[in-house]
Amino acid sequence: MIYLDNNATTPLDPRVIDKIISFIKEHFGNPSSLYPLGREVKTLVTEAREQVAAAIGARRTEIIFTSSGTEADNLAILGLAEAQPEKREFITSSIEHPAVLETARHLEAHGYTVYYLPVDQTGLIDLDFLRSVISAKTLLVSVMLANNEIGTIEPLEEVVKIAHRYGVPVHTDAVQAFGKMEVKVDSLGVDLLSLSAHKVYGPKGTGALYIRKGLDLRPVLHGGHQEFGLRPGTENTAGIIGFGEAVRILREEWLKDKNRIEKLAGRMKSGFEKKIKGIRFNGHPEKRIKSTLNFSFPGLPAEAILLALATREIYVSTGSACSEGSGEVSHVLLALGLTQEEASSALRLSLGRFNTEEDVDQTLAEMPEIIDELRRELAG
Ligand code: PLP
Repeated sequence: MIYLDNNATTPLDPRVIDKIISFIKEHFGNPSSLYPLGREVKTLVTEAREQVAAAIGARRTEIIFTSSGTEADNLAILGLAEAQPEKREFITSSIEHPAVLETARHLEAHGYTVYYLPVDQTGLIDLDFLRSVISAKTLLVSVMLANNEIGTIEPLEEVVKIAHRYGVPVHTDAVQAFGKMEVKVDSLGVDLLSLSAHKVYGPKGTGALYIRKGLDLRPVLHGGHQEFGLRPGTENTAGIIGFGEAVRILREEWLKDKNRIEKLAGRMKSGFEKKIKGIRFNGHPEKRIKSTLNFSFPGLPAEAILLALATREIYVSTGSACSEGSGEVSHVLLALGLTQEEASSALRLSLGRFNTEEDVDQTLAEMPEIIDELRRELAG
């Protein structure tokens, strides 16, 4: 099979599998227990926390493990809202993942004013719009670092400059950026940053939130004192240990991986553009995660292409995994100005660590045939 949906989730790295298996065989202790069985696990969780912190240039006490990237996004936004109930305005972008967009809608339902930053045709947010709506009443600005559907990289440093002038903190959802570009909290200047293990060859159901030291956040779940009192519940220890191992590998190999994967993706992109007539590339020509490729195939429903590829064991997606199957057209592509028809003909191919030259060759050989066949079927 050829797996080209690494933005939906990545396969576990075999080294992560080994680490998790040996951990769960040897350790069942609760990290909150005071006797050695628990203390040993606590130490391993702390080591994983150090890996995650070091990867983004943070301190280990600034990292909270969560159940997912989604929970990290929720905790960032709702945890700050709990801490500063007098601030009733929130700013985000129109192309966020549902983990942020639906949290914004939740705030709206509770009487908040939410501003959604528009984007240009390439997916870059409108900074003038941000300047026009931000004020001392703003609770938080939340803008993703890289978009999951088109890969566009947002100008976070600019966002931070503008927001901090008003004393407004900035959150970024770095779930898709992490592992694919340099992500350092100090050079970005952000106050909150979300991560997810399963996008970096780690296990599903584990995420992390970076909270800059000194920023007051309140828990949104209520219970014990785990995770510095911010995220109660006995830790998903196997998930956290796997996340730590995935990040250890990432820190050693990400740059080498990045160059190789981007070369493969570049070859895929030019192959598509040369071999398939009438397609449209969606996203920014330069400021993007190069392993994410999003194309519209005007006149063809994306689902038909996806299913035809799947019969040949080539797996791609029509947008984000979360909206797939919902029958909804991508809100990201509509925000870019695509018509319903163009948006519903879009496919995302996302490459990762385990893709090979042969994967690209085979996809480039099969894809034009599939498109020709579908076009003939539709014409006839
Ligand atoms: N944010 C972005 C940009 C994502 O792409 C995803 C996953 O697709 C998430 C958040 C959610 O992460 P998780 O699947 O860990 O909840």
